[in-house]
Amino acid sequence: MRDKVRCLIIGSGPAGYTAAIYAARANLEPMLFEGLQPGGQLTTTTEVENFPGYPEGITGTEMMEDLKNQAARYGAEIFPGRATSVDFSEKPYKVTIDGEKTIVADSVIICTGATAKYLGLPDEDKYAGQGVSACATCDGFFYRKKTVAVVGGGDTACEEATYLSGLADKVYMIVRKDHLRASQIMQERVLSNPKIEVLFEHNTLGLFGENGVEGAHLVKRMGKADEEKVDIAIDGFFLAIGHTPNTDIFKDYIDLDETGYINIQHPTSKTNVEGVFAAGDVADTLYRQAVTAAGMGCRAAMDAERYLSEQGL
Ligand code: NDP
Repeated sequence: MRDKVRCLIIGSGPAGYTAAIYAARANLEPMLFEGLQPGGQLTTTTEVENFPGYPEGITGTEMMEDLKNQAARYGAEIFPGRATSVDFSEKPYKVTIDGEKTIVADSVIICTGATAKYLGLPDEDKYAGQGVSACATCDGFFYRKKTVAVVGGGDTACEEATYLSGLADKVYMIVRKDHLRASQIMQERVLSNPKIEVLFEHNTLGLFGENGVEGAHLVKRMGKADEEKVDIAIDGFFLAIGHTPNTDIFKDYIDLDETGYINIQHPTSKTNVEGVFAAGDVADTLYRQAVTAAGMGCRAAMDAERYLSEQGL
């Protein structure tokens, strides 16, 4: 493995692999580290039906394998390994992999993604891919004419519930407080939708079902004198309690917004550190789609190519 590269890509979701395809074809000889979850968040979904070019749909895992092979075909060097610390204080930059090996890089593309938050219930693991999802746009289609629940009371939860109401027959929203946190307009949209029933002051205790999710055990007004256990019958359980961008190791150098996402100089992928670029969910609070992440990865590789050529590197 080389220890000095012109272009180092951190992360292996659609943003990372697309950046690798473009960087390899531009002769930057990129090196990519796959991170903790090779293939990224998409490998946790079942079928991907909204990525252009796959009329029959494709599993998330297969699609990421295709992207990886495409990047490798043009010479991108792809390795397992997680970036555990960086030093962007001076050029060339240093990135440490798995706490052991340091790679020196003229340019760095950060594609470390975001991780959906889960409640932390054992049943979320038990029913992963069998009724539990953290992405309505990815998996909602499988719940046409069925009953689903969305956990959360923020803008994401309202948006997901509204989206799901276009497919499912009934959508519960499970909200732990007695009010929604979402913006006024999103609240109105949810509260006036006859297919959505908001269960205020409800918490989820667990899920049940023989063949995938068939229902959820809830508790109303938990810890109060009139606490009450309630079961609801559902086919799908969607988490929408926020995402955590994977930016911890960059925070000493890279400008982040108040929720931890990387601030990029739109419409480019430039961060505040010259020669360090960001693409995909790690810098996207709004779209978070495979196809938008791939587009951002393309931009980042083109930005890196321009930067390296301007610097004569
Ligand atoms: P938020 O942090 O805004 O909301 C999270 C929601 O999940 C809250 O209702 C919170 O409850 C609830 N929650 C958190 N943890 C738990 C838990 N353990 N159990 C039960 N409920 C829980 O996250 P969002 O993803 O909704 O939004 C992130 C940001 O993105 C926000 O700034 C939002 O405005 C923005 N956004 C904007 C959109 C738009 O403008 N179209 C669309 C989507 C997001 P509680 O209120 O009790 O803390």
